[in-house]
Amino acid sequence: MAWVITHLCRDCVDMSCIEVCPVDCIYGYTGDDAATFPNQLYIDPEECINCGVCEPECPWEAIFEDEQVPEVFHEAVALNAKITEAKDHFEVPDKIDRPRPSSEEVASNKTKWGYTG
Ligand code: SF4
Ligand code: SF4
Repeated sequence: MAWVITHLCRDCVDMSCIEVCPVDCIYGYTGDDAATFPNQLYIDPEECINCGVCEPECPWEAIFEDEQVPEVFHEAVALNAKITEAKDHFEVPDKIDRPRPSSEEVASNKTKWGYTG
């Protein structure tokens, strides 16, 4: 069991989640293969202790428990797990303060990815 960061994080990368993770298992990709690892953060499922404290911190509502990941984002489970194959190219990023998205922006981002939840 682990938590998963989905497509809703892509290009938003607010980073509120990294500050609360007690085991620092939320990573950014530092390599140059953006086709495999798009611009979002990733949770290492082998390090995640399933505490769930990151989920309410995400203003884009991008984080789900693996068994609760919506079908439209199902590939995110394997994508997060894929970081274990390329760990040398991942590191815990520094926090960047970004403005909180409005509820309209959050809804628009969900629509963009075909998520109606
Ligand atoms: S808080 Fe949400 S949007 Fe921000 S980096 Fe974490 S998962 Fe991505
Ligand atoms: S569930 Fe807990 S351990 Fe796992 S990524 Fe979120 S804050 Fe970190």
